[in-house]
Amino acid sequence: MALTNLINLVYILSAVTFILGFKMISSPESAQRGNLISGLGMATAIIVTLMLPDIERFQFIFMGAAVGAAIGLFFAYRTPMTGMPQMVGLLNGFGGLASWFVALAEFESPRDQGLFGGSVLWLAAIIGAVTFSGSIIAWAKLDEKFISGKPIMYKGQQIVTLVVMLGMLACGIMFAKDTLDPNALYYFGGFSLFAFILGILLTIPIGGADMPVVICLLNSYSGMAACASGFVVGNTLLVVAGALVGASGIILTLIMCKAMNRSVANVFLGGFGAPVTGTAMEVSGEIKPIKPDEAYLVLEAAQSVVIVPGYGMAVSQAQHAVRELTEQLEKNGTEVRFAIHPVAGRMPGHMNVLLAEANISYDAMVEMDAINPTMETVDVCMIIGANDVVNPAARVDKMSPLYGMPIINADYAKTVIIMKRSMGKGFAGVENPLFFNNNSRMLFGDAKASLQALVSEFKGGN
Ligand code: NDP
Repeated sequence: MALTNLINLVYILSAVTFILGFKMISSPESAQRGNLISGLGMATAIIVTLMLPDIERFQFIFMGAAVGAAIGLFFAYRTPMTGMPQMVGLLNGFGGLASWFVALAEFESPRDQGLFGGSVLWLAAIIGAVTFSGSIIAWAKLDEKFISGKPIMYKGQQIVTLVVMLGMLACGIMFAKDTLDPNALYYFGGFSLFAFILGILLTIPIGGADMPVVICLLNSYSGMAACASGFVVGNTLLVVAGALVGASGIILTLIMCKAMNRSVANVFLGGFGAPVTGTAMEVSGEIKPIKPDEAYLVLEAAQSVVIVPGYGMAVSQAQHAVRELTEQLEKNGTEVRFAIHPVAGRMPGHMNVLLAEANISYDAMVEMDAINPTMETVDVCMIIGANDVVNPAARVDKMSPLYGMPIINADYAKTVIIMKRSMGKGFAGVENPLFFNNNSRMLFGDAKASLQALVSEFKGGN
């Protein structure tokens, strides 16, 4: 009894550390500490759970944990920042698979689960299986390794999905009615297979472009699967942790959809991400290239500079060069601020993480809504590998897939310097009229190389 009380007390404290951790990771300054606190809470919870008298054969538990940790560490170190969405996708999938195994193990125990227990087992297994297969497809689409990132649509898609769902439900009803029935194993296999297929069917119609949103939703599913597993094994902490992950994943999904001006239904009904031919808006004006030595003169004379980072900065790994240029500008008496769009890059917080890695002060990072009203007073807006998040067509062109997406009003600055390699399009695949504006200058080349050239100009000029 005393042990049960101790375990429950530790579970409550661990749940508090999870919630505290969530709160802390919402600010870059406290994020690392928040992660650590939640991690310690989880470690303590695992230790006290291992003290339960019905847990035996520790050698298998430790072997599994050691192998899992080694694989996790290996991939975490190897994965570049631009590959994070794929990595998170895979991790969600394994979380779902683990829940499916928990359901299977519990089903194998000779206990009568009753209707409620059987239904919860079914839920844990199907959410786990959907999460697993859906995440694998999301990972493959993002990586474009085994399948194309384009949406895969076919005739009768919704009917096939409905039939699979009904099959999953029918097997579930037969299973939950009597989990000790000799046929229950077949029902378990049946709904698991249907759920596995459902995960694939739900993910293939979604374009690779929308996969990061899907990954957030799958993250939420993996939390729900863990929550259901918590009910299956009667572990309150797993229920709490799963519910937290489930809720935060849903919230993140909604935030991303809002920032992309898309409804959740629009993303999940699929089809977006197919090649787009271009905006209906007439693009007029001409491209005016600028060389680093000329761009230096413009920057050198500027009193205020706003830097808009985008996906290209991540590709080029230019964040450290950005810091060096910022230092040079500040030494020259220029005020430098960073305008961060909520969906710049390919995952939430992508730009903040990269800039923070290069020790750029959080105070200099300004959110879109705060920086936009000041853009007209800015001398130079420097766009580093961003495209869609500064596309003015989003404000006016009703035919553009970006229409309605709030953007950073870079075009309102007195001079705009755009760093990119070519006239290549951004994620939405549409032309950007900003590049043709009178006050725009294109600094072509890899972002890191261009920034380094600018830094050299500043150093040479001093
Ligand atoms: P974009 O994808 O619109 O544009 C990136 C630009 O970077 C390209 O035009 C490319 O042009 C340039 N680029 C690529 N490599 C380099 C390099 N080495 N050096 C310099 N430039 C380079 O990026 P944004 O950040 O502006 O927009 C993000 C897009 O992603 C939005 O449409 C958003 O909706 C979407 N999205 C974001 C998610 C998120 O969570 N952040 C999730 C899902 C989607 P070029 O080839 O000419 O160099």
